[in-house]
Amino acid sequence: MSMQYSVVADAHNCAPALPAITVHQVSQFFGANQVLNHVNIEVPKGTIVALLGPSGCGKSTLLKLLSGLLHPSSGEIHFGEMCVAAGKFSLPPEKRSLGMAFQDYALWPHMNVYQNVAFPLQMCGVRGVVQREKVMATLERVSLADFSLRRPGELSGGQQQRVALARAIVAEPQILLFDEPLSNLDRDLRESLCEEMATLLRQLGTTAVYVTHDPNEAQTLAHCIARMEHGRIARVDQIESSCIAPFVA
Ligand code: ADP
Ligand code: MG
Repeated sequence: MSMQYSVVADAHNCAPALPAITVHQVSQFFGANQVLNHVNIEVPKGTIVALLGPSGCGKSTLLKLLSGLLHPSSGEIHFGEMCVAAGKFSLPPEKRSLGMAFQDYALWPHMNVYQNVAFPLQMCGVRGVVQREKVMATLERVSLADFSLRRPGELSGGQQQRVALARAIVAEPQILLFDEPLSNLDRDLRESLCEEMATLLRQLGTTAVYVTHDPNEAQTLAHCIARMEHGRIARVDQIESSCIAPFVA
């Protein structure tokens, strides 16, 4: 019997809404090495889940499966009503309405801040005045409006991560995925940026999966913490009310 973690989006509503993310019996092998072992998790719309666990337990692998950069060896993934991975079927990353940010920022060094943040809009055909307004409003949100013409190389690590965050949210994706975005920063900066991100993510109300090995970050940022051990979700702890109630399927 496998543990299934499910969610009650609204404690007063008897019929829970369809989860924004459903991971059902997902396993992942690399050759003979089983990295994920029948993972089940449901994330309600608007919830920020921290995936917390030691190095090597499979956090990044699970995030790559959500993003579509990897295809699961078995199991299914759904975003709301939409199946994104099952059997041989895989919806490509660009069709999953995702925003992503990683540890190494992954900014384009030859583009300035504006161009980096505008890129996802450019990809979906948002140009001209509308693009400019969206980019500048997003840069305002991350306190970088005055830096739009700088190249990433002319920014501090914290500022670069803010640019990456702006790029992740500018096109208003349905789901945000973060893989240890703050772990390259020094401690003080990590703490202040973590609090900024917590505020911003709550304002946006976007469903988010936030991978970290830092329990403080998880506690500050997330509505609930899914603890991973050896390729399984060992436990889900709720931080704020109206979030996750584990039950046995
Ligand atoms: P975490 O992010 O929790 O540190 P990962 O998901 O990156 O862990 O990795 C989990 C395990 O899967 C590790 O043992 C890692 O070496 C292995 N792994 C990850 N990606 C690959 C890959 N592409 N090929 C082979 N093994 C991999
Ligand atoms: Mg990792």
